[in-house]
Amino acid sequence: MPRLVLITASSPEIREVRRTRVLNFQQITMPYLAARVPAGWEVVHIDEEAEEIDWKIEADLVGITFHTPSAHHAYHIATHFRSRGICVIMGGPHVTLLPQEAGQYADVIFIGEAEGLWEEFLKSFETGSHRRVYQNAGPPFLKDVPISRKELFHRSDYTNGVLFATRGCSNQCDFCTVAVMYPHKLRMRPIAEVAAEYASFKGKVIIFWDDNIAGDMEYAKELFRAIAPYRKWWSSQASIHCGRDDKFLEAAAQSGCKQLFLGLESISQQSLAGVNKRFNRVEEYLQVIERIHSHGIAVQAGIVFGFDDDTPEIFRNTIDFLEEAGVQNATLNILTPFPGTPLYRKMKAEGRLLTQDWSKYNSRDDVVFKPKQMSVAELLTGFRYANERFYSLQSITKRLSRSLVQCWWSLPLNLAYSFQWRMMAQSGSPR
Ligand code: SF4
Repeated sequence: MPRLVLITASSPEIREVRRTRVLNFQQITMPYLAARVPAGWEVVHIDEEAEEIDWKIEADLVGITFHTPSAHHAYHIATHFRSRGICVIMGGPHVTLLPQEAGQYADVIFIGEAEGLWEEFLKSFETGSHRRVYQNAGPPFLKDVPISRKELFHRSDYTNGVLFATRGCSNQCDFCTVAVMYPHKLRMRPIAEVAAEYASFKGKVIIFWDDNIAGDMEYAKELFRAIAPYRKWWSSQASIHCGRDDKFLEAAAQSGCKQLFLGLESISQQSLAGVNKRFNRVEEYLQVIERIHSHGIAVQAGIVFGFDDDTPEIFRNTIDFLEEAGVQNATLNILTPFPGTPLYRKMKAEGRLLTQDWSKYNSRDDVVFKPKQMSVAELLTGFRYANERFYSLQSITKRLSRSLVQCWWSLPLNLAYSFQWRMMAQSGSPR
C-alpha cells in the first residue's frame, strides 16, 4: 500500500512564537486533504506544532503545507526527503504567493486551492504521469467537501472541533493574503453539510476557521439557525459588519457564539484608509463592541501596528482605547508586507523592504520594512509595550470590569497570558 506523509510545517522559531500563545488551534488543511485521498493509500500526518518529524519515516510521497515565515524550514524538509529519492509536493499559502520560488524545492506544486486537482494528481502519481504544476482554472465547488479526518488532528488544545463554512472574503485589504489566496472572493459550503460536520465533533467547543464568518450575513444567519440545536460553543473571525446587525448577533449568540475575533486593525482612520480598509469606521468601534457585548459575546480585537500613518503615540492610544472598550482579548501584530500582496508591491516600489528573509515575516519578533513615522526600534519597543500593558493586571482589571461578558473563561485566559508575558519579560525574550 503506498504511503503518503503529510506535513504541516512550522519552523522552530515559529513554534517558539506559538508556544507563547495560550490557545493554539489545529490547522485543518491536511486533515481535509487526507479525506480526499482514495482508498488504497496509507496516510500519516505530521503536525510540527505538536510533534517532531521522523526524518527516516517510510514514504512514497511527501506533501508539505506552510506559511511564509516557515518557508526556509519547509524547503529544508523538502530537500531532505528529495535526497532520499521521495517525491515531494508542496502547496499552501506561501506556494500560492510565490510559486516560482517554491517550485525550485519541490517535484510538484499546487497553486491555490487543491480540491479536484488533488485527487487527479494522486491517480496520475500512481501511473507516473503527473504534472509539475497544478492550478485550478476557477474556484473549486465547496459542495460535498468530505469531513476532515479527525484521527489526523494532533494538537492538545481546548477543542477538537475545527471546520470551515466559507472560504475567502469579499473585501480586499492591501495587507491581507486572503484576497491573494482566494481571488474568487467569498464562497460558501452548503449549510446542511456544514451543520453535519459541526455535529460530528464530540467536543463542546468549535472553531470556525473562516476568514470572515460575516462575509455573507444572510448565509451566516441561516447557518447559525442550523447549528443552534447542537448546543455547542463556537468562535470565529468576523469583519466589523457583524457588529452593525443585531439580527446577526442575536442568531450568533443563540447558536452558541462565545467570542468573535474582530479585525479592527487600527484606531487611526488614516491608517485604515492607507491599506484599503475604509469600511472600518473608527468612530463606530465603541458602539459596535458594546453591541456585540450586549448579546453576551466576547470580543477579541485584531490590531496591527506600523501603518504609514502610525506615530509613536499609536501604542498608548490603542491600549487606552481597548481598555475603554472593555475588549476581552486581543491579537496584536506588527504590520508585515507578505509577498504577493499590494502592500508588499508598494513597499518594494518605495524601496522600504529591509529583508527577504521570510523567517522574519513573523509579525511579532521582527520588522521587515522601514516604517514611515517611527524607527524600526520604536515599532518593536512600542509593540512590546502594548502587549505587556494589555496583559498587565491593571489593564485586565479595567477591561474585564467594563463588561463582565464571558468573564468566567476570559479572566483565566488573560491571567495565563499575563503570566507568560511576565515570564518572557524576565527571560528577556523579545516577544
Ligand atoms: S476583511 Fe479581513 S479577511 Fe477580508 S480582506 Fe480584509 S483583512 Fe482580509
